Amino acid sequence: MKKNERIPLSPCLRRFKFFFDLLKKTTDNYLFFADIQENIVMVSPNLVQDFDLPGEIMQDFDAYWAPLIHPEERSTYLASIRGLMKTQTIFEHNMEYRVKTRQGDYVWIRCRGRVGNDRDGTPSMFAGMMSRMAQRNQADEVTGLLNKYQFEHAVKLALNQYRATGEGGAIMVFGLDNFKIVNETYNRVVGDLVLKRVAELIGNVLPAPLTLFKLDGDQFAVIYPEAAEQEVAEIFASVQSALSRPQDINGHQYFCTASCGTVFYPTAGKDYLVLHKHAEAAMDIAKREGKNRSVLFSKDQYNRWVRSISMRDSLWDSVENGCMGFSLFFQPQISAEDQKLIGAEALLRWKNPKGRMVAPMEFIPILEETKLIIPVGKWVFEEALKVCKKWRHVVPEFQISVNMSYEQVKDLSFKEFVTECLARYDMPVDAVILELTESKIVADWSFVNRQFDSFRSQGIAIAMDDFGTGYSSLASLKYLSCDIVKIDREFVKKILENDFDRKLVQYVVALCHSIGIKCCIEGVEEEAEYELLTKECKADSIQGYLFGHPESVENFEEKFLHMEKH
Ligand code: C2E
Ligand code: CA
Ligand code: CA
Repeated sequence: MKKNERIPLSPCLRRFKFFFDLLKKTTDNYLFFADIQENIVMVSPNLVQDFDLPGEIMQDFDAYWAPLIHPEERSTYLASIRGLMKTQTIFEHNMEYRVKTRQGDYVWIRCRGRVGNDRDGTPSMFAGMMSRMAQRNQADEVTGLLNKYQFEHAVKLALNQYRATGEGGAIMVFGLDNFKIVNETYNRVVGDLVLKRVAELIGNVLPAPLTLFKLDGDQFAVIYPEAAEQEVAEIFASVQSALSRPQDINGHQYFCTASCGTVFYPTAGKDYLVLHKHAEAAMDIAKREGKNRSVLFSKDQYNRWVRSISMRDSLWDSVENGCMGFSLFFQPQISAEDQKLIGAEALLRWKNPKGRMVAPMEFIPILEETKLIIPVGKWVFEEALKVCKKWRHVVPEFQISVNMSYEQVKDLSFKEFVTECLARYDMPVDAVILELTESKIVADWSFVNRQFDSFRSQGIAIAMDDFGTGYSSLASLKYLSCDIVKIDREFVKKILENDFDRKLVQYVVALCHSIGIKCCIEGVEEEAEYELLTKECKADSIQGYLFGHPESVENFEEKFLHMEKH
Protein backbone atom coordinates (compact mmCIF):
# COMPACT_ATOMS: atom_id res chain seq x y z
CA MET A 1 0.00 0.00 0.00
CA LYS A 2 1.36 3.37 -0.94
CA LYS A 3 1.11 6.40 1.24
CA ASN A 4 -2.32 8.05 1.19
CA GLU A 5 -3.62 5.37 -1.16
CA ARG A 6 -7.35 5.12 -0.58
CA ILE A 7 -8.60 1.77 0.63
CA PRO A 8 -12.35 1.41 0.44
CA LEU A 9 -14.04 0.92 3.81
CA SER A 10 -15.70 -2.40 4.34
CA PRO A 11 -19.47 -2.31 5.04
CA CYS A 12 -18.80 -3.21 8.65
CA LEU A 13 -16.35 -0.31 9.15
CA ARG A 14 -18.58 2.09 7.30
CA ARG A 15 -21.32 1.39 9.82
CA PHE A 16 -19.09 2.49 12.70
CA LYS A 17 -17.11 5.28 11.04
CA PHE A 18 -19.48 7.95 12.28
CA PHE A 19 -18.91 6.96 15.93
CA PHE A 20 -15.20 6.47 15.36
CA ASP A 21 -14.83 10.03 13.98
CA LEU A 22 -16.69 11.40 16.97
CA LEU A 23 -14.61 9.42 19.48
CA LYS A 24 -11.20 10.25 18.05
CA LYS A 25 -11.84 13.94 18.74
CA THR A 26 -12.35 13.24 22.44
CA THR A 27 -9.00 11.66 23.38
CA ASP A 28 -5.24 11.87 22.93
CA ASN A 29 -5.04 8.10 22.93
CA TYR A 30 -4.74 6.13 19.70
CA LEU A 31 -7.94 4.40 18.57
CA PHE A 32 -8.34 1.46 16.25
CA PHE A 33 -11.18 -0.52 14.80
CA ALA A 34 -10.61 -3.65 12.71
CA ASP A 35 -12.77 -5.69 10.40
CA ILE A 36 -11.30 -9.11 11.00
CA GLN A 37 -12.92 -10.86 8.06
CA GLU A 38 -11.79 -8.27 5.51
CA ASN A 39 -8.47 -7.65 7.31
CA ILE A 40 -8.97 -3.88 7.16
CA VAL A 41 -8.12 -1.57 10.03
CA MET A 42 -9.22 1.99 10.71
CA VAL A 43 -6.96 4.04 13.03
CA SER A 44 -7.05 7.56 14.44
CA PRO A 45 -4.90 10.17 12.64
CA ASN A 46 -2.53 10.65 15.59
CA LEU A 47 -1.33 7.04 15.17
CA VAL A 48 -0.61 7.70 11.49
CA GLN A 49 1.19 10.88 12.41
CA ASP A 50 3.31 9.57 15.31
CA PHE A 51 4.32 6.25 13.74
CA ASP A 52 4.49 7.25 10.11
CA LEU A 53 1.80 4.83 8.90
CA PRO A 54 0.56 4.93 5.28
CA GLY A 55 -2.99 6.06 6.06
CA GLU A 56 -5.96 5.93 8.41
CA ILE A 57 -7.43 2.92 6.63
CA MET A 58 -5.07 0.05 6.07
CA GLN A 59 -5.28 -3.41 4.63
CA ASP A 60 -3.17 -5.92 6.56
CA PHE A 61 -2.30 -3.50 9.36
CA ASP A 62 0.26 -5.82 10.99
CA ALA A 63 2.45 -5.75 7.90
CA TYR A 64 3.14 -2.11 8.86
CA TRP A 65 2.76 -2.29 12.60
CA ALA A 66 4.73 -5.41 13.54
CA PRO A 67 8.05 -4.21 12.01
CA LEU A 68 7.80 -1.09 14.21
CA ILE A 69 7.52 -3.16 17.40
CA HIS A 70 10.72 -3.74 19.34
CA PRO A 71 12.20 -7.15 18.39
CA GLU A 72 12.03 -8.30 22.01
CA GLU A 73 8.26 -7.93 22.08
CA ARG A 74 7.34 -8.56 18.46
CA SER A 75 6.80 -12.30 18.58
CA THR A 76 4.74 -12.05 21.77
CA TYR A 77 2.60 -9.39 20.09
CA LEU A 78 2.03 -11.45 16.96
CA ALA A 79 1.23 -14.56 18.97
CA SER A 80 -1.31 -12.63 20.99
CA ILE A 81 -3.03 -11.17 17.90
CA ARG A 82 -3.08 -14.53 16.12
CA GLY A 83 -4.65 -16.10 19.20
CA LEU A 84 -7.40 -13.47 19.17
CA MET A 85 -8.23 -13.91 15.50
CA LYS A 86 -8.28 -17.68 15.49
CA THR A 87 -9.93 -18.74 18.69
CA GLN A 88 -13.40 -18.06 19.82
CA THR A 89 -12.52 -18.08 23.48
CA ILE A 90 -10.04 -15.21 23.85
CA PHE A 91 -11.63 -11.78 23.55
CA GLU A 92 -9.22 -9.47 25.21
CA HIS A 93 -5.86 -8.13 24.14
CA ASN A 94 -3.87 -6.29 26.79
CA MET A 95 -0.19 -5.78 26.27
CA GLU A 96 2.64 -3.33 26.80
CA TYR A 97 5.31 -3.03 24.17
CA ARG A 98 7.75 -0.66 22.56
CA VAL A 99 7.07 0.85 19.14
CA LYS A 100 9.39 2.93 17.00
CA THR A 101 8.16 6.47 16.39
CA ARG A 102 8.51 8.56 13.24
CA GLN A 103 11.66 10.04 14.89
CA GLY A 104 13.16 6.58 15.30
CA ASP A 105 12.89 6.29 19.14
CA TYR A 106 11.10 3.52 20.90
CA VAL A 107 8.21 4.49 23.15
CA TRP A 108 6.25 2.23 25.42
CA ILE A 109 2.60 1.85 24.68
CA ARG A 110 -0.15 -0.06 26.36
CA CYS A 111 -2.64 -1.56 23.95
CA ARG A 112 -6.05 -2.76 25.05
CA GLY A 113 -8.66 -4.12 22.70
CA ARG A 114 -11.64 -6.47 22.53
CA VAL A 115 -12.93 -8.83 19.92
CA GLY A 116 -16.60 -8.94 18.95
CA ASN A 117 -18.01 -12.11 17.38
CA ASP A 118 -20.62 -12.70 14.70
CA ARG A 119 -23.86 -14.37 15.56
CA ASP A 120 -22.33 -17.70 14.55
CA GLY A 121 -19.41 -17.07 16.88
CA THR A 122 -16.67 -16.15 14.39
CA PRO A 123 -14.54 -13.20 15.43
CA SER A 124 -15.57 -10.25 13.30
CA MET A 125 -14.51 -6.96 14.93
CA PHE A 126 -11.55 -5.89 17.01
CA ALA A 127 -11.65 -2.45 18.61
CA GLY A 128 -9.71 -0.63 21.28
CA MET A 129 -7.12 1.93 22.08
CA MET A 130 -3.44 2.40 22.75
CA SER A 131 -1.86 4.88 25.13
CA ARG A 132 1.70 6.04 25.60
CA MET A 133 3.08 5.08 28.96
CA ALA A 134 4.84 8.17 30.20
CA GLN A 135 6.77 6.61 33.09
CA ARG A 136 7.97 3.69 31.00
CA ASN A 137 9.39 5.93 28.36
CA GLN A 138 11.93 7.37 30.72
CA ALA A 139 15.35 5.93 30.37
CA ASP A 140 17.32 6.33 33.57
CA GLU A 141 18.08 10.04 33.67
CA VAL A 142 21.59 9.76 35.04
CA THR A 143 23.06 6.86 33.13
CA GLY A 144 20.87 6.72 30.04
CA LEU A 145 20.42 2.99 30.60
CA LEU A 146 17.08 1.21 30.37
CA ASN A 147 15.28 1.79 33.66
CA LYS A 148 13.52 -0.44 36.17
CA TYR A 149 10.29 -0.61 34.13
CA GLN A 150 12.15 -1.98 31.17
CA PHE A 151 13.94 -4.36 33.49
CA GLU A 152 10.61 -5.62 34.79
CA HIS A 153 9.37 -6.04 31.26
CA ALA A 154 12.54 -7.85 30.20
CA VAL A 155 12.29 -10.25 33.15
CA LYS A 156 8.70 -11.02 32.20
CA LEU A 157 9.77 -11.69 28.63
CA ALA A 158 12.55 -13.97 29.85
CA LEU A 159 9.96 -15.88 31.89
CA ASN A 160 7.71 -16.14 28.82
CA GLN A 161 10.68 -17.44 26.92
CA TYR A 162 11.21 -20.04 29.63
CA ARG A 163 7.55 -21.10 29.39
CA ALA A 164 7.84 -21.42 25.63
CA THR A 165 11.20 -23.16 25.39
CA GLY A 166 11.96 -24.49 28.87
CA GLU A 167 15.18 -22.46 28.96
CA GLY A 168 15.93 -20.67 32.22
CA GLY A 169 18.72 -18.30 33.05
CA ALA A 170 20.17 -15.90 35.60
CA ILE A 171 19.30 -12.45 36.89
CA MET A 172 22.20 -10.56 38.43
CA VAL A 173 21.62 -7.45 40.56
CA PHE A 174 24.65 -5.27 41.32
CA GLY A 175 24.79 -2.74 44.16
CA LEU A 176 27.65 -0.28 44.61
CA ASP A 177 29.61 -0.65 47.82
CA ASN A 178 29.67 2.42 50.06
CA PHE A 179 27.76 4.56 47.58
CA LYS A 180 25.94 6.28 50.43
CA ILE A 181 29.27 7.58 51.69
CA VAL A 182 29.97 9.20 48.29
CA ASN A 183 26.68 11.09 48.42
CA GLU A 184 27.23 12.04 52.03
CA THR A 185 30.89 13.03 51.72
CA TYR A 186 30.66 14.88 48.42
CA ASN A 187 27.30 15.63 46.87
CA ARG A 188 24.74 14.23 44.48
CA VAL A 189 26.54 15.64 41.45
CA VAL A 190 29.61 13.56 42.27
CA GLY A 191 27.28 10.65 43.10
CA ASP A 192 25.72 10.89 39.64
CA LEU A 193 29.14 10.97 38.01
CA VAL A 194 30.07 7.81 39.89
CA LEU A 195 26.90 6.08 38.68
CA LYS A 196 27.59 7.15 35.13
CA ARG A 197 31.18 5.93 35.24
CA VAL A 198 30.17 2.61 36.76
CA ALA A 199 27.47 2.17 34.11
CA GLU A 200 30.13 2.60 31.42
CA LEU A 201 32.65 0.33 33.12
CA ILE A 202 30.14 -2.50 33.61
CA GLY A 203 28.56 -1.96 30.19
CA ASN A 204 31.96 -2.31 28.51
CA VAL A 205 32.67 -5.75 29.94
CA LEU A 206 29.25 -7.35 29.36
CA PRO A 207 29.11 -9.87 26.50
CA ALA A 208 27.42 -8.35 23.45
CA PRO A 209 23.83 -9.59 23.62
CA LEU A 210 23.38 -8.69 27.28
CA THR A 211 21.80 -5.40 28.35
CA LEU A 212 22.61 -3.45 31.49
CA PHE A 213 19.63 -1.98 33.32
CA LYS A 214 19.68 0.74 35.95
CA LEU A 215 17.36 0.08 38.88
CA ASP A 216 16.66 2.34 41.86
CA GLY A 217 19.48 4.07 43.75
CA ASP A 218 22.88 2.53 43.15
CA GLN A 219 21.62 -0.74 41.66
CA PHE A 220 22.22 -2.21 38.22
CA ALA A 221 20.94 -5.45 36.72
CA VAL A 222 21.61 -7.93 33.95
CA ILE A 223 19.43 -10.73 32.63
CA TYR A 224 21.47 -13.59 31.28
CA PRO A 225 19.37 -16.23 29.51
CA GLU A 226 20.66 -19.81 29.62
CA ALA A 227 23.44 -18.87 32.05
CA ALA A 228 24.64 -21.23 34.77
CA GLU A 229 26.96 -20.63 37.74
CA GLN A 230 30.07 -20.63 35.55
CA GLU A 231 28.85 -17.81 33.28
CA VAL A 232 27.66 -15.77 36.26
CA ALA A 233 31.06 -16.15 37.95
CA GLU A 234 32.80 -15.03 34.76
CA ILE A 235 30.62 -11.92 34.43
CA PHE A 236 31.20 -11.01 38.06
CA ALA A 237 34.96 -11.52 37.70
CA SER A 238 35.10 -9.18 34.72
CA VAL A 239 32.94 -6.56 36.44
CA GLN A 240 35.14 -6.86 39.52
CA SER A 241 38.29 -6.34 37.52
CA ALA A 242 36.74 -3.40 35.62
CA LEU A 243 35.96 -1.77 38.96
CA SER A 244 39.24 -2.67 40.64
CA ARG A 245 41.11 0.51 39.72
CA PRO A 246 40.46 3.78 41.55
CA GLN A 247 38.44 6.19 39.42
CA ASP A 248 39.18 9.85 39.25
CA ILE A 249 35.80 11.50 39.62
CA ASN A 250 35.82 15.29 39.61
CA GLY A 251 39.27 15.22 41.13
CA HIS A 252 38.27 12.68 43.80
CA GLN A 253 39.91 9.28 43.84
CA TYR A 254 37.21 6.73 44.37
CA PHE A 255 37.09 2.93 44.48
CA CYS A 256 33.65 1.99 43.21
CA THR A 257 33.48 -1.74 43.86
CA ALA A 258 30.18 -3.59 43.63
CA SER A 259 28.44 -6.51 45.32
CA CYS A 260 26.26 -8.84 43.32
CA GLY A 261 23.27 -11.06 44.06
CA THR A 262 22.18 -13.67 41.52
CA VAL A 263 18.98 -15.68 41.15
CA PHE A 264 18.42 -18.44 38.66
CA TYR A 265 14.98 -18.65 37.11
CA PRO A 266 12.79 -20.64 37.25
CA THR A 267 14.40 -22.39 40.29
CA ALA A 268 14.35 -19.29 42.53
CA GLY A 269 10.92 -18.14 41.33
CA LYS A 270 8.66 -17.82 38.33
CA ASP A 271 7.45 -14.36 39.10
CA TYR A 272 9.14 -10.99 38.52
CA LEU A 273 8.58 -9.64 42.04
CA VAL A 274 9.83 -12.79 43.75
CA LEU A 275 12.93 -12.99 41.56
CA HIS A 276 13.78 -9.34 42.04
CA LYS A 277 13.30 -9.58 45.82
CA HIS A 278 15.49 -12.67 46.06
CA ALA A 279 18.24 -11.17 43.90
CA GLU A 280 18.26 -8.02 46.04
CA ALA A 281 18.42 -10.10 49.22
CA ALA A 282 21.41 -12.06 47.84
CA MET A 283 23.07 -8.74 46.98
CA ASP A 284 22.46 -7.45 50.50
CA ILE A 285 23.99 -10.65 51.90
CA ALA A 286 27.03 -10.13 49.65
CA LYS A 287 27.43 -6.67 51.17
CA ARG A 288 27.10 -7.96 54.69
CA GLU A 289 29.66 -10.67 54.02
CA GLY A 290 32.25 -8.02 53.28
CA LYS A 291 31.26 -6.38 49.93
CA ASN A 292 32.98 -6.64 46.55
CA ARG A 293 31.72 -10.20 46.16
CA SER A 294 28.97 -12.21 44.54
CA VAL A 295 26.36 -14.35 46.30
CA LEU A 296 24.04 -16.85 44.63
CA PHE A 297 20.56 -16.90 46.10
CA SER A 298 19.74 -19.85 48.36
CA LYS A 299 16.51 -20.43 50.23
CA ASP A 300 18.27 -21.18 53.53
CA GLN A 301 20.41 -18.10 53.37
CA TYR A 302 17.38 -16.04 52.44
CA ASN A 303 15.45 -17.31 55.46
CA ARG A 304 18.40 -16.44 57.71
CA TRP A 305 18.52 -12.99 56.13
CA VAL A 306 14.81 -12.44 56.82
CA ARG A 307 15.37 -13.53 60.44
CA SER A 308 18.26 -11.13 60.83
CA ILE A 309 16.13 -8.26 59.51
CA SER A 310 13.48 -8.95 62.12
CA MET A 311 16.19 -9.39 64.75
CA ARG A 312 17.51 -5.97 63.81
CA ASP A 313 14.12 -4.42 64.59
CA SER A 314 13.89 -6.20 67.93
CA LEU A 315 17.42 -5.11 68.83
CA TRP A 316 16.49 -1.50 68.08
CA ASP A 317 13.48 -1.85 70.39
CA SER A 318 15.63 -3.32 73.15
CA VAL A 319 18.15 -0.50 72.92
CA GLU A 320 15.45 2.16 72.83
CA ASN A 321 13.99 0.65 75.99
CA GLY A 322 17.16 1.08 78.01
CA CYS A 323 18.86 -2.14 76.84
CA MET A 324 15.90 -4.24 77.95
CA GLY A 325 16.51 -7.93 77.22
CA PHE A 326 20.29 -7.59 77.49
CA SER A 327 22.24 -9.06 80.38
CA LEU A 328 25.83 -9.92 81.22
CA PHE A 329 27.34 -13.27 82.03
CA PHE A 330 30.79 -13.56 83.55
CA GLN A 331 33.45 -16.19 82.93
CA PRO A 332 36.26 -16.57 85.47
CA GLN A 333 39.90 -15.98 84.56
CA ILE A 334 42.50 -17.61 86.75
CA SER A 335 46.18 -17.15 87.24
CA ALA A 336 48.03 -20.00 85.50
CA GLU A 337 50.59 -20.24 88.28
CA ASP A 338 48.37 -20.87 91.30
CA GLN A 339 44.83 -21.21 89.88
CA LYS A 340 43.65 -18.20 91.88
CA LEU A 341 40.69 -16.18 90.55
CA ILE A 342 42.05 -12.92 89.13
CA GLY A 343 39.18 -11.60 87.10
CA ALA A 344 36.35 -12.33 84.69
CA GLU A 345 35.31 -11.59 81.14
CA ALA A 346 31.93 -9.90 80.73
CA LEU A 347 29.94 -11.65 77.98
CA LEU A 348 26.83 -10.11 76.54
CA ARG A 349 23.55 -12.05 76.39
CA TRP A 350 20.28 -11.13 74.72
CA LYS A 351 16.76 -12.52 75.00
CA ASN A 352 14.55 -11.77 71.98
CA PRO A 353 10.98 -10.52 72.53
CA LYS A 354 9.75 -14.13 72.57
CA GLY A 355 12.06 -14.83 75.48
CA ARG A 356 14.53 -17.01 73.54
CA MET A 357 18.24 -16.61 74.27
CA VAL A 358 20.00 -15.69 71.02
CA ALA A 359 23.64 -16.68 70.53
CA PRO A 360 26.13 -13.74 70.59
CA MET A 361 27.50 -14.92 67.24
CA GLU A 362 24.06 -14.14 65.78
CA PHE A 363 23.22 -10.80 67.37
CA ILE A 364 26.62 -9.15 67.86
CA PRO A 365 27.35 -8.84 64.11
CA ILE A 366 23.96 -7.11 63.76
CA LEU A 367 24.75 -4.74 66.62
CA GLU A 368 28.02 -3.93 64.87
CA GLU A 369 26.45 -3.44 61.50
CA THR A 370 23.76 -1.12 62.82
CA LYS A 371 26.28 0.60 65.12
CA LEU A 372 23.93 -0.21 67.99
CA ILE A 373 27.04 -1.73 69.54
CA ILE A 374 28.01 1.85 70.48
CA PRO A 375 25.19 2.44 73.01
CA VAL A 376 25.10 -1.25 73.98
CA GLY A 377 28.88 -1.27 74.48
CA LYS A 378 28.59 1.65 76.90
CA TRP A 379 25.85 -0.15 78.79
CA VAL A 380 28.08 -3.27 78.97
CA PHE A 381 31.00 -1.26 80.25
CA GLU A 382 28.99 0.44 82.99
CA GLU A 383 27.24 -2.76 84.14
CA ALA A 384 30.54 -4.66 84.18
CA LEU A 385 32.22 -1.87 86.13
CA LYS A 386 29.45 -1.88 88.78
CA VAL A 387 29.84 -5.64 89.22
CA CYS A 388 33.61 -5.33 89.41
CA LYS A 389 33.34 -2.68 92.12
CA LYS A 390 31.20 -5.01 94.19
CA TRP A 391 33.47 -8.04 93.68
CA ARG A 392 36.59 -6.08 94.57
CA HIS A 393 35.31 -6.22 98.14
CA VAL A 394 35.99 -9.97 97.99
CA VAL A 395 38.98 -10.08 95.62
CA PRO A 396 40.68 -6.65 95.87
CA GLU A 397 42.75 -6.92 92.67
CA PHE A 398 39.81 -8.26 90.62
CA GLN A 399 40.00 -7.21 86.94
CA ILE A 400 37.04 -7.14 84.60
CA SER A 401 37.60 -7.71 80.87
CA VAL A 402 35.15 -5.97 78.55
CA ASN A 403 34.88 -6.69 74.84
CA MET A 404 35.20 -3.82 72.44
CA SER A 405 34.38 -3.95 68.73
CA TYR A 406 36.23 -2.01 66.09
CA GLU A 407 33.09 0.14 65.73
CA GLN A 408 33.56 1.22 69.34
CA VAL A 409 37.23 2.01 68.81
CA LYS A 410 36.24 4.25 65.94
CA ASP A 411 33.67 6.07 68.06
CA LEU A 412 35.64 8.71 69.92
CA SER A 413 32.94 9.21 72.56
CA PHE A 414 33.63 5.71 73.94
CA LYS A 415 36.98 6.75 75.39
CA GLU A 416 35.46 9.76 77.11
CA PHE A 417 32.69 7.57 78.44
CA VAL A 418 35.19 5.09 79.89
CA THR A 419 37.13 7.83 81.69
CA GLU A 420 33.98 9.48 82.99
CA CYS A 421 32.52 6.16 84.14
CA LEU A 422 35.66 5.13 86.03
CA ALA A 423 35.59 8.49 87.82
CA ARG A 424 31.85 8.26 88.56
CA TYR A 425 32.23 4.84 90.23
CA ASP A 426 35.49 5.87 91.83
CA MET A 427 37.33 2.95 90.28
CA PRO A 428 41.06 2.66 89.49
CA VAL A 429 42.06 2.30 85.83
CA ASP A 430 43.66 -1.09 86.45
CA ALA A 431 40.25 -2.60 87.28
CA VAL A 432 39.39 -2.93 83.59
CA ILE A 433 40.88 -4.54 80.51
CA LEU A 434 39.49 -3.73 77.07
CA GLU A 435 39.56 -6.61 74.57
CA LEU A 436 39.50 -5.78 70.88
CA THR A 437 37.29 -8.54 69.48
CA GLU A 438 36.37 -7.52 65.96
CA SER A 439 37.48 -10.15 63.50
CA LYS A 440 37.05 -8.17 60.29
CA ILE A 441 39.26 -5.15 60.71
CA VAL A 442 39.66 -3.58 57.32
CA ALA A 443 40.98 -0.13 57.85
CA ASP A 444 43.73 1.84 59.35
CA TRP A 445 46.07 0.10 61.77
CA SER A 446 47.72 3.36 62.76
CA PHE A 447 44.40 4.88 63.78
CA VAL A 448 43.59 1.84 65.96
CA ASN A 449 47.04 2.09 67.45
CA ARG A 450 46.58 5.75 68.33
CA GLN A 451 43.32 4.87 70.07
CA PHE A 452 45.02 2.04 71.93
CA ASP A 453 47.84 4.36 72.98
CA SER A 454 45.45 6.89 74.41
CA PHE A 455 43.74 4.19 76.52
CA ARG A 456 47.10 2.79 77.59
CA SER A 457 48.53 6.20 78.47
CA GLN A 458 45.65 6.48 80.96
CA GLY A 459 46.66 3.12 82.43
CA ILE A 460 43.87 1.01 80.89
CA ALA A 461 45.18 -2.32 79.63
CA ILE A 462 44.34 -3.46 76.10
CA ALA A 463 44.02 -7.11 75.10
CA MET A 464 44.09 -8.45 71.58
CA ASP A 465 41.34 -11.06 71.42
CA ASP A 466 41.17 -14.30 69.44
CA PHE A 467 44.86 -14.40 68.54
CA GLY A 468 45.37 -16.76 65.62
CA THR A 469 42.08 -15.97 63.90
CA GLY A 470 40.93 -13.19 61.58
CA TYR A 471 42.71 -9.88 62.10
CA SER A 472 44.54 -11.08 65.14
CA SER A 473 47.83 -12.58 64.04
CA LEU A 474 51.57 -12.09 64.19
CA ALA A 475 51.21 -9.18 61.77
CA SER A 476 48.85 -7.35 64.11
CA LEU A 477 51.31 -7.93 66.98
CA LYS A 478 53.84 -6.05 64.89
CA TYR A 479 51.53 -3.08 64.23
CA LEU A 480 49.38 -2.84 67.35
CA SER A 481 50.71 -2.17 70.79
CA CYS A 482 48.84 -4.05 73.48
CA ASP A 483 49.33 -5.42 76.99
CA ILE A 484 47.73 -8.82 76.73
CA VAL A 485 47.25 -11.35 73.94
CA LYS A 486 44.38 -13.81 74.24
CA ILE A 487 45.24 -16.97 72.37
CA ASP A 488 42.18 -18.50 70.74
CA ARG A 489 40.78 -21.95 71.47
CA GLU A 490 41.64 -22.93 67.87
CA PHE A 491 45.27 -23.18 69.01
CA VAL A 492 44.51 -25.02 72.21
CA LYS A 493 42.26 -27.69 70.69
CA LYS A 494 45.02 -29.82 69.26
CA ILE A 495 47.97 -29.21 71.55
CA LEU A 496 47.62 -32.59 73.20
CA GLU A 497 48.01 -34.56 69.98
CA ASN A 498 49.87 -32.15 67.81
CA ASP A 499 53.46 -31.32 68.48
CA PHE A 500 53.50 -28.43 66.03
CA ASP A 501 50.53 -26.66 67.67
CA ARG A 502 52.10 -27.07 71.07
CA LYS A 503 55.38 -25.59 69.88
CA LEU A 504 53.51 -22.76 68.19
CA VAL A 505 51.74 -21.75 71.41
CA GLN A 506 55.02 -22.05 73.27
CA TYR A 507 56.83 -19.75 70.81
CA VAL A 508 54.01 -17.22 70.61
CA VAL A 509 53.99 -16.96 74.42
CA ALA A 510 57.78 -16.63 74.47
CA LEU A 511 57.68 -13.97 71.77
CA CYS A 512 54.99 -12.02 73.66
CA HIS A 513 56.92 -12.25 76.93
CA SER A 514 60.07 -10.98 75.22
CA ILE A 515 58.27 -7.74 74.36
CA GLY A 516 56.49 -7.43 77.68
CA ILE A 517 53.07 -8.76 76.62
CA LYS A 518 51.13 -11.18 78.84
CA CYS A 519 49.28 -14.20 77.43
CA CYS A 520 45.85 -15.44 78.39
CA ILE A 521 44.81 -18.77 76.92
CA GLU A 522 41.14 -19.21 76.07
CA GLY A 523 39.01 -22.31 75.77
CA VAL A 524 40.88 -24.57 78.14
CA GLU A 525 38.58 -27.54 78.75
CA GLU A 526 40.82 -30.33 80.08
CA GLU A 527 43.21 -30.76 82.97
CA ALA A 528 45.93 -32.12 80.66
CA GLU A 529 45.67 -29.04 78.44
CA TYR A 530 46.03 -26.85 81.49
CA GLU A 531 49.15 -28.74 82.66
CA LEU A 532 50.79 -28.38 79.29
CA LEU A 533 49.85 -24.75 78.81
CA THR A 534 51.21 -23.67 82.14
CA LYS A 535 54.28 -25.91 82.48
CA GLU A 536 55.53 -26.05 78.90
CA CYS A 537 53.95 -23.03 77.29
CA LYS A 538 54.22 -20.70 80.30
CA ALA A 539 50.85 -19.01 79.84
CA ASP A 540 50.05 -16.23 82.34
CA SER A 541 46.32 -16.70 82.76
CA ILE A 542 43.64 -19.15 81.71
CA GLN A 543 39.99 -18.85 80.77
CA GLY A 544 37.95 -21.92 79.89
CA TYR A 545 35.23 -24.36 80.83
CA LEU A 546 37.73 -26.30 82.97
CA PHE A 547 37.58 -23.50 85.53
CA GLY A 548 34.13 -22.19 84.80
CA HIS A 549 31.48 -21.45 82.21
CA PRO A 550 30.05 -17.96 81.74
CA GLU A 551 27.57 -17.45 84.61
CA SER A 552 24.98 -14.90 85.69
CA VAL A 553 26.06 -12.42 88.42
CA GLU A 554 24.31 -14.43 91.15
CA ASN A 555 25.71 -17.78 90.08
CA PHE A 556 29.19 -16.34 89.64
CA GLU A 557 29.07 -14.92 93.17
CA GLU A 558 27.91 -18.19 94.61
CA LYS A 559 30.31 -20.43 92.68
CA PHE A 560 33.50 -18.42 92.50
CA LEU A 561 33.29 -15.78 95.22
CA HIS A 562 31.41 -17.90 97.76
CA MET A 563 29.07 -15.03 98.48
CA GLU A 564 25.68 -15.66 100.04
CA LYS A 565 22.76 -15.87 97.62
CA HIS A 566 20.23 -13.13 98.34
P1 C2E B 1 35.14 -14.07 72.93
O1 C2E B 1 35.40 -12.67 73.32
O2 C2E B 1 36.26 -14.85 72.34
O3 C2E B 1 34.54 -14.78 74.20
C1 C2E B 1 34.86 -16.08 74.56
C2 C2E B 1 33.87 -17.03 74.03
O4 C2E B 1 34.37 -18.35 74.17
C3 C2E B 1 32.57 -16.99 74.83
O5 C2E B 1 31.51 -17.26 73.92
C4 C2E B 1 32.74 -18.14 75.79
O6 C2E B 1 31.52 -18.68 76.25
C5 C2E B 1 33.49 -19.14 74.94
N1 C2E B 1 34.29 -20.05 75.75
C6 C2E B 1 34.91 -19.77 76.92
N2 C2E B 1 35.56 -20.86 77.39
C7 C2E B 1 35.38 -21.87 76.50
C8 C2E B 1 35.80 -23.24 76.44
O7 C2E B 1 36.48 -23.77 77.30
N3 C2E B 1 35.42 -23.95 75.34
C9 C2E B 1 34.65 -23.41 74.37
N4 C2E B 1 34.32 -24.19 73.36
N5 C2E B 1 34.23 -22.12 74.40
C10 C2E B 1 34.58 -21.35 75.45
P2 C2E B 1 30.24 -16.36 73.86
O8 C2E B 1 29.82 -15.90 75.21
O9 C2E B 1 29.26 -17.11 73.02
O10 C2E B 1 30.71 -15.07 73.08
C11 C2E B 1 31.03 -15.13 71.74
C12 C2E B 1 31.65 -13.87 71.28
O11 C2E B 1 30.74 -12.77 71.29
C13 C2E B 1 32.79 -13.37 72.13
O12 C2E B 1 33.92 -14.12 71.87
C14 C2E B 1 32.92 -11.94 71.68
O13 C2E B 1 33.61 -11.86 70.47
C15 C2E B 1 31.48 -11.58 71.45
N6 C2E B 1 30.99 -10.82 72.59
C16 C2E B 1 30.44 -11.26 73.75
N7 C2E B 1 30.11 -10.23 74.54
C17 C2E B 1 30.46 -9.10 73.88
C18 C2E B 1 30.35 -7.70 74.17
O14 C2E B 1 29.91 -7.25 75.23
N8 C2E B 1 30.80 -6.82 73.21
C19 C2E B 1 31.32 -7.26 72.04
N9 C2E B 1 31.74 -6.36 71.17
N10 C2E B 1 31.43 -8.56 71.73
C20 C2E B 1 31.01 -9.48 72.64
CA1 CA C 1 36.75 -11.57 74.37
CA1 CA D 1 38.33 -14.75 72.39
